Formats: sequence, structure tokens, C-alpha cells
Amino acid sequence: MQIAVIGGGVTGLVAARELANKGHTITIYERNAHIGGLAAGFPFKGTHLEHAYHHVFRTDHDLIQLVQELGIRNRLQWFRSSVAMVVRGRLYPFASAVDVLRFTPIALISRLRLGAVLFWLQHRKRWNSLTPIPACIWMSRWCGKQAYQAVWEPLLRGKFHAYYRDVSMAWLWARIHTRANSRKREAEKLGYFEGGFAVLINALEQALEDHGVRIRTNMPVTALWASETGKSVMVQTEGGIEQFDRVLCTVPSPVFAQYIEKAPGVPPAYRNQLNNIRYLNAICVVFSSTQSLSPYYWVNIADRDMPFVAFVQHTNLLPAAWYQGEHVYYAGTYVPKNHALLSLQDAEIKETFLHAVARIFPDFDPQSVTETH
Ligand SMILES: Cc1cc2nc3c(=O)[nH]c(=O)nc-3n(C[C@H](O)[C@H](O)[C@H](O)COP(=O)(O)OP(=O)(O)OC[C@H]3O[C@@H](n4cnc5c(N)ncnc54)[C@H](O)[C@@H]3O)c2cc1C
Repeated sequence: MQIAVIGGGVTGLVAARELANKGHTITIYERNAHIGGLAAGFPFKGTHLEHAYHHVFRTDHDLIQLVQELGIRNRLQWFRSSVAMVVRGRLYPFASAVDVLRFTPIALISRLRLGAVLFWLQHRKRWNSLTPIPACIWMSRWCGKQAYQAVWEPLLRGKFHAYYRDVSMAWLWARIHTRANSRKREAEKLGYFEGGFAVLINALEQALEDHGVRIRTNMPVTALWASETGKSVMVQTEGGIEQFDRVLCTVPSPVFAQYIEKAPGVPPAYRNQLNNIRYLNAICVVFSSTQSLSPYYWVNIADRDMPFVAFVQHTNLLPAAWYQGEHVYYAGTYVPKNHALLSLQDAEIKETFLHAVARIFPDFDPQSVTETH
């Protein structure tokens, strides 16, 4: 079959590879000049770095299998991770049971409850029954109000904004369970590619080229509709209209809803369903510095007045030597489309975030920053 794949992110690339392996003829349409989507990056200090923090969990079995098949297993390396949390401007390690017991923003009894709940979630294998229960209700009930308000509520709000009350406990279970399973009786280990995730994207691109897949970058799709016979699908781009037997769309659902806006025969209820899926924007400031700010890789920010929810010292996972000896940081947050941060210029966002970094780490010297992105 002739198949169009819309979107050259990891989903589109992997799907195209699977379909090409089965003998189909594939064309990928990608809006941007480059493929990789959210996992794409940029050249940085003689190597390659993602726009947003990325790592691999030990439980990402499909990805690890793909890496094996692409012949880049030796480029995926595993490093010891460390986690901390900022509460009311102070940094607390938050990776082990001992850390939880020493987490003084909450009373000892709350720490014991929190520790017991974490232990239970890490070892519980069944998650289905947690699906209908909102995480905020479940956590508040089992951890108690104090631990919920100090730890879970700021994290849920930070990640999901106004939608945080709708987040299922199954999602939070998966986060906690996955991290625990990346440990294997030792400190958590996370994977990263020597040369960045570009190694994965480039290997996928090479595999697709070997299969004769056509990758059309700078080619946003503008509309889709079924042919008169209903047996094929028309794909419209600035380059014209092409006909396919099937189309696989990997773009966000509201974008897909726009393509089929004028397509005859699409029930309005289906379009509404697509438009009702709510999305958040991710904002990530990346910077390098000659200064090391903390001993932790991943710092969750549980302070609502901070402009970001995750502070990642990338070079506490990977050797700084990979980046010419400098320390590499990400500060990231997730915001709805009407959020004030999105009305700022890039330079203003960087300034706001770096200012907040200095509030968490009073020794931070902005002069030590060598690059921001
Ligand atoms: C801050 C952040 C951190 C993350 N960290 C991790 C991590 O540590 N580990 C992990 O596994 N995952 C992580 N992820 C998630 C991971 O990046 C995504 O799950 C994955 O990249 C999604 O791939 P995708 O192909 O589904 O979507 P996308 O990457 O969004 O790809 C969709 C593609 O469609 C293209 N497109 C859009 N509109 C059109 C159009 N009209 N015509 C043609 N093309 C179009 C886009 O340009 C894009 O290339 C993170 C994501 C974010 C935001």
C-alpha cells in the first residue's frame, strides 16, 4: 500500500519503519526543516543536545529493543541518577526511603505515611483500579493532607496546571513505579545516548532511507479528505495534492481536527472529541555554566511561586567532559496556551528563569553562564 505518515517525530519515524518493514511504500510529511519532533535538538559544544530534557528508563523495553535493532546499543549508556525537591526555597534529597524520613517540611508521622504509600505504589503491579480515581484525591487520602499539600499538589499543579484535578492516579502510579523499576536494588540508573538523542533520530532516518522511505521536510499538511470512492485519502500540502491508500497521523489531535475540518462525511462529534483533548505547552530554558549548582540530576520544584517545575542538572547524569567541561542545565515548565509566560520574548523567559535559579541557589553567579537557549 501507499501510506502517508504525517509528522516526523519519533512516533512517525518508528511507525514508518514498521510499515516499510512490512513492504509498504511510505512518505513522511514533516512541517519543520528537521525531523525528531519534541525529541529534536541542536548542535551544542561539539556534540548534540535536546531542546527538552530527555532520558531513557530501564523499563522503556520497546525503545531499548529499537535501539538494539538499529545497531546503536553501544551508544546508549546508563548513568546513576539522583533526585531532590525544593520546598519553600530549600533543597531536600528525595530519592530513597531515608530521604523521605529526613524530609523535614512535614511532620514525622506524615513522612512515615508518605514512605509507606511510596513503598506500596512502587511494588503494586496492578494499576487498572486506580484509573477512575483522581491522583489528588487518592494521594490526599492515603498520604494525608500535609504530605499531599507539601509534595503532590505542587507537583501535580506544576505539571498539569488547571487540569491537575483530572489526572488519574494510574498516571502517578506509573511515574512512581517506573522510577522504582529503574533501580534494580541500587541507585536509579537512567539511559542517555553518547552524542545525544540525535543518535537515535539519525539512525532512524538512515534505516528509513535504506527502505526507500520518502521524508518530505518543510512540508506542513493542510488538509485531508477521502476520495470520492472512499478507497483512498487525499493529502494536501503547499506542494500540491497527493493520493494514498492510507494515512497515519501522528500530530496533536486538535491539529488533526483542522485537517479534516472540511472533509465530507466526518461526524462533528468526532471532530469535537479531537478538539476537546487538552494540551499544555512545554517551556524549557537550557543553559551552560562554568559553575556546578547542586549534586542532583533532577530537582522537582514544589514551590508554586517559582516559574518552573523541574530543574535538571544534565551533567550530574552525564560527564561534564562531554560538554567541554561545562555544566548543562534545563529549567522547564508546562503551561496552558493563555499563560503569561507565553506572551514573553525568549530573552525575557530566560531572564525570569535565571533569576529564579538564583533564588534556589544563592551562590549562582549569572556571569558563569556561557550559553542560553
Ligand atoms: C519537556 C519534555 C521532556 C520529555 N522527556 C522525555 C524523556 O525523558 N523520555 C521520553 O521517553 N520522552 C520524553 N518526552 C516525550 C517525548 O519527547 C515525546 O513523547 C515524543 O518525542 C513524541 O513524539 P511524537 O512523534 O509522538 O510527537 P512529536 O514529537 O510532537 O512529533 C510530531 C511531529 O509532527 C510535526 N507536525 C505538526 N504539525 C504538522 C503538519 N501540519 N504537517 C506535518 N507535520 C506536522 C511536528 O513538527 C513534529 O515533528 C518529553 C517531552 C517533553 C515536552
